[in-house]
Formats: sequence, structure tokens, C-alpha cells
Amino acid sequence: MGKQEEFVLRALEERDVRFVRLWFTDVLGYLKSVAIAPAELEGAFSEGIGFDGSAIEGFARVYEADMLAKPDPSTFQILPWRGEGPSTARMFCDIVMPDGSPSYADPRYVLKRTLSKAAENGFTFYTHPEIEFYLFKDTPTPGGEPVPVDRSGYFDHTAQSMGSDFRREAITMLEAMGISVEFSHHEGGPGQQEIDLRYADALSTADNIMTFRTVVREVALSQGIWATFMPKPFTTHPGSGMHTHVSLFEGDTNAFFEAGAEYQLSKTGRSFIAGILTHAAEISVVTNQWVNSYKRLMWGGEAPSYICWGHNNRSAMIRVPMYKPNKGQSTRMELRTIDSAANPYLAFAVILAAGMKGIEEGYELPREAEDDVWSLTERERKSLGIDPLPKTLAEAIAVAESSELLAETLGEHVFDFFLRNKRAEWDEYRIEVSSFERDRMLPRL
Ligand code: GLN
Ligand code: MG
Ligand code: MG
Ligand code: MG
Repeated sequence: MGKQEEFVLRALEERDVRFVRLWFTDVLGYLKSVAIAPAELEGAFSEGIGFDGSAIEGFARVYEADMLAKPDPSTFQILPWRGEGPSTARMFCDIVMPDGSPSYADPRYVLKRTLSKAAENGFTFYTHPEIEFYLFKDTPTPGGEPVPVDRSGYFDHTAQSMGSDFRREAITMLEAMGISVEFSHHEGGPGQQEIDLRYADALSTADNIMTFRTVVREVALSQGIWATFMPKPFTTHPGSGMHTHVSLFEGDTNAFFEAGAEYQLSKTGRSFIAGILTHAAEISVVTNQWVNSYKRLMWGGEAPSYICWGHNNRSAMIRVPMYKPNKGQSTRMELRTIDSAANPYLAFAVILAAGMKGIEEGYELPREAEDDVWSLTERERKSLGIDPLPKTLAEAIAVAESSELLAETLGEHVFDFFLRNKRAEWDEYRIEVSSFERDRMLPRL
């Protein structure tokens, strides 16, 4: 047994842990959990805990259903919301097959595989997400319009506001679990909040995002309100994005940084951005995976609709934030398409793969978009070479189906399952008669 495993076993005794939750994530990004007694943990470390993979969305075909969850001891944390008395802890797991090989269906493995490819080229991938979400007064009911907890807007600070109390408690809990928060504020929509996590390697960030979603929901429930990461819950208010700042490091050096270059952006940084732009439409089905995701990308509200980059341009899909002099290490790009309901493991994997493709192939970065791209005409955008992002989930699926990059990055099994699942979602959506149609037609026809 390694040092980390021993540390965890000791912590179980010292902290009086009675339950250990083993966490993992299905292909669509839902968190799964199995609780084991502390006595089982040694076995879990050496062999894993068996479960029926075919019961988990996207995991297995029925005839090869046996899988094992193996806890990653570096992710051990006590859950702070379980209150006084004996504690409950959690660890993220890697999923393995009975022969010990990694499961091809495990999103965490998809990301790990992509990270190791980048590592073979000497790169570590760092991400920093800005996570937006809405708070509602009550549990949503089918067919009902949710009521936001407040009427505030961007950066508003109001006395006794539900939002700031909520953020204080959520952040305290995140910090208690070793997740550093850099920034938090009220967002543009009523009841909409944003909390930004400190940058970390992409695997830790993806784990942290899964924890974040759980913490935020738990804190909301404890305050008698409801939190949602749905990309666009209201027709007339902004959606919830998960803008993600990314950079590559070679050892201790930021590979995107070059002193004296335009925006201090190195050739590596430029090609990485070009890779994401070139493959933006193909990876859209992963960064924006729901029918509802595309309603956010069509509405403005600082969510992008077109494939372009800019330097201080909030209508662009990628923004290179203003650099601070002498802060070369923080050189990065901000991807603004990805939303708060993406599977973070798969999303980070496809973003990294697209960027790495740009570096391998030496893609050239097109000219930056200097205008507000929403206000341009179709023809102006065409002449600038600015294409639209997929406008619906159906369009995103169509481009994804023939994407080699996506098939290679997700692996055949996840690629097939994912697209099959998304086609089914689209089909269910398009046969549904909506209130839009009824309200338009019933009074007049
Ligand atoms: N809510 C916007 C989005 O959906 C972002 C707003 C902002 O952070 N400037 O992307
Ligand atoms: Mg922000
Ligand atoms: Mg924001
Ligand atoms: Mg942002």
C-alpha cells in the first residue's frame, strides 16, 4: 500500500469516519456514489469495489457489465455538510475492468488519457472555471416557471441578500474541502450567481467542478432554496455559462507566454487557440451537450454565437484577457462557449485535444474579431470569415458524427454512446408540442 492510502486509512480513524463515499461520473456528467464501511477501504484500494456497469448511463454493454470502482486516495476529503458527530468522507474513483485495465467508458479516464498525450509532448494543462448558476425560491415543479431568489443584477450588492449569504456558506464549504475560490459575485440574471475556482491542473479542476455542483445543491437545500446549472432556464434572462480559462505549462513555464509578442501570446498559444476555433463546431456537442444549451448560445447576453476570437471582445467565443505587465505566467485564453451543465471531464478532454491538434499541425490563428460580432450583418461576418456555432443540438450532432478528433478523443465506446444518447434527446424534443406553438396558433386558427 502506498503512502497516500496509508494516510487515508489513518485519517479514517482520527476523524471518526463511519461512511466512505466512492464518487464517479457517468458519461452525461451525473455524479454517482456508493457508500462503503471504512473496513472495506483496504480492499477497495487494492482491488476496487464491484458494481453493475450496465446500470450506469453510458458505461457498459450488458454482456460486459462487471466493473470496479478504485478510489483515488489523493482526492480524500471529509464532507463538511454532514454536520457534527461521526463523519462521512469521499474519494473520486477510477473505473477499471475485472482484468485491471481502465474502463473505456469512464469520463475521468478519457480526460486522463488526453492529459497523458499532452504530457508526452511536455505539456501540463491548467484550467480555471467561472461557474454560473441560478438560485430559485422553491423546488421546480413540472410545467411551472421557477421564481428566482432575488431581482438583483451584475455585481449587485444588496443588504440581506439571499445571494451573498448563499455564496458565503457555499465558499466556506468549498474551502473546507480544499477547493480554493478566487472570485464570486451576483451575475446578470435575477437570482444568478457566479463563483470562480482557482486554476489547477485539469483533472483536479474537473473533480472540483463535480464537488462544486454537489456543494452548491446541498447548501441551497439547507437554506430552503434550489440551485440549477441548467444552461438557459429563462427565455428573457441570460444563461449560465462556465467560461474556462486555459493554459499549457512546460514544467514551470507558461507555454502560452512570449515576452514582446502580440498580447504576449507565443506561437504555441496562437496555434492552440487556432485548434479550438478550427474544431469548435465538432466539439460543441460536448461543451454544450443539451437541447437547452443552444438557447443560451442564440440569445446574446454575453454568450457567444460565432466562431472567432478577440482580445477584449465579449462577443467572441475565445477571449485573450488583457495581460498584466510582468505577469507572463498568467497568460491564458478564455473559452466562453462551454456551459455549466457540461461533463467537465469530457469537455476538458475535447478542448485540450482540439488545442493540441492546432499545435501539432501548426494551425495559423486567423485575424481577431474587433467588432461586436452580433451587430454585424450575415454578409459582413462572411467576408470576415466568421462562421456561426451550431445553432441547435441537431446541428452539433451532425458535425460531430464525422469528427475524427472527437471519435479519437472520446474513444469509440463513449463516442457511440454519447451521440446515440444525444440523437434520442433531440428526437424526443422535436416531437414535443410546445407552449410557443399553442400560444401562437390556438387563438387564431
Ligand atoms: N452569462 C453569460 C454566459 O452565458 C456570461 C456573462 C459574463 O460572465 N460576462 O456566457
Ligand atoms: Mg466572470
Ligand atoms: Mg460571468
Ligand atoms: Mg468570463
